[in-house]
Amino acid sequence: MHFETITPADDTWQEQALCAQTGPDFFFPEPGSSVRDAKRICALCELRPACLEYALANDERFGVWGGLSEKERLALRRPAR
Ligand code: SF4
Repeated sequence: MHFETITPADDTWQEQALCAQTGPDFFFPEPGSSVRDAKRICALCELRPACLEYALANDERFGVWGGLSEKERLALRRPAR
C-alpha cells in the first residue's frame, strides 16, 4: 500500500491536519491521562495514514500520531511472533 509521504520540511500537510486546528494539548496528554479525544480527532483526519507512517518512520515516541498512542505504535513496530 502506498501512502502520501509527509516530511517536517513540508508543512502544507499540517494545514490539513485536524490536530493543527485543535492544538497540541489533546495529542500530548499528561502521562496517564486519556488519549480518547485525540483518537477521536484522528479518526476524522484525512491525513491519518500518512501521519501514522511518518510517526513510525521517524520513531516518534511521544503523543498520539495517526490515531495510535505511543504504546500502540510500539506494538506495531515490534515484529510479530
Ligand atoms: S491523524 Fe491525528 S495526529 Fe495525525 S495529523 Fe491527523 S489529527 Fe493530527
